[in-house]
Amino acid sequence: MHVIGTAGHVDHGKSTLVAALTGIHPDRLKEEREREMTIDLGFAWLTLPNGERVGIVDVPGHRDFIENMLAGVGGIDAALLVVAADEGVMPQTREHLTILDLLGVERGIIVVTKIDLVDDPEWLELVESDLRDIVRGTALQNAPMVRVSAHTRAGLDVLVATLSRVLEDTPSRPDLGKPRLPIDRVFSIVGFGTVVTGTLLDGSLSLGDEVEILPAGLRGRIRGLQTHKQKTQRALPGSRTAVNITGIEVGQIQRGDVLTFPGLYHPTQRLDARCRLISDSRMPLQHNSEVKLFLGTSEVLARVRVLGTEALQPGDVGWIQLEPHSPIVAVRGDRFILRRPSPGETIGGGIVLDPHPQHRYRR
Ligand code: GDP
Repeated sequence: MHVIGTAGHVDHGKSTLVAALTGIHPDRLKEEREREMTIDLGFAWLTLPNGERVGIVDVPGHRDFIENMLAGVGGIDAALLVVAADEGVMPQTREHLTILDLLGVERGIIVVTKIDLVDDPEWLELVESDLRDIVRGTALQNAPMVRVSAHTRAGLDVLVATLSRVLEDTPSRPDLGKPRLPIDRVFSIVGFGTVVTGTLLDGSLSLGDEVEILPAGLRGRIRGLQTHKQKTQRALPGSRTAVNITGIEVGQIQRGDVLTFPGLYHPTQRLDARCRLISDSRMPLQHNSEVKLFLGTSEVLARVRVLGTEALQPGDVGWIQLEPHSPIVAVRGDRFILRRPSPGETIGGGIVLDPHPQHRYRR
């Protein structure tokens, strides 16, 4: 099972494309939920010609791109960077591309959509050449480019074939036996109780398993599981999953918490990381400044200690120590994004090197 995400400027046709590819329209998801009592897991599915099912993250309620991408850290295998042919590259096209790059999403397809709105072949070529320019030097530099129209369905077969090819080369997620589900939603259903949803990043979960919710360390047991649209006995790594838990009240859990097995992970308030500042960021990242850290589904304020220098400049790569104000669950290799606390401008991002460093960096 692979999961892909859409990226691109608002109104450039992401949702319409997903609906055209999957036949699943956000409104239909809601109806199905009422009829079948299944939970809207926040994505749609596409079955590739080889029979593989691919999850696509893009439905209302999950519209915030940063949330989407981060909820999918380790969960998104490839991205569709969607650009409307009539408008071409726009500010969010660049911003989303930067975030994909910071998150290390190395596979993707650049989709030029709404081609039914453009008659001028030179304009299309101009848009595509702009796109080639902006992806140069990023993880998506060699991504294939496909022209489509979600309205006339032109090019959709080529897109699906291209996606099959891209995913064929994408390894399946390894199961290291250490379940970790960053929680993106928490709610309760009458007759069932507490339900949490998220993308299972590693390991599998089974009915009856004892689970722990971090950072609080609450213990409960799995009473029900749903992946895709079905109830199941066992959820595998990479699955969008809903978990019905007994023994923990809905009010005790929040978005950003992590569901795991007891004792497997230990929350941290200090982590060593390598970080890259985006080059069009306007300000340096000062030693001891405060940032908003996005990691997994958590979003916390953190103090930054910059190693060996007073500040990192836009475009720089450097080593930092992050001190989240409240405990989070992080694992070596996790990707994260840093933004300014307000007005929420993206500064950079990176990769966790050590979630439990021995030394506290102070100067
Ligand atoms: P999103 O914000 O990127 O998800 O954009 P939407 O999918 O909501 O689309 C924005 C608008 O563009 C809607 O009015 C769609 O009907 C329209 N649209 C989307 N795809 C196409 C297309 O292929 N051709 C045309 N002509 N319009 C499209």
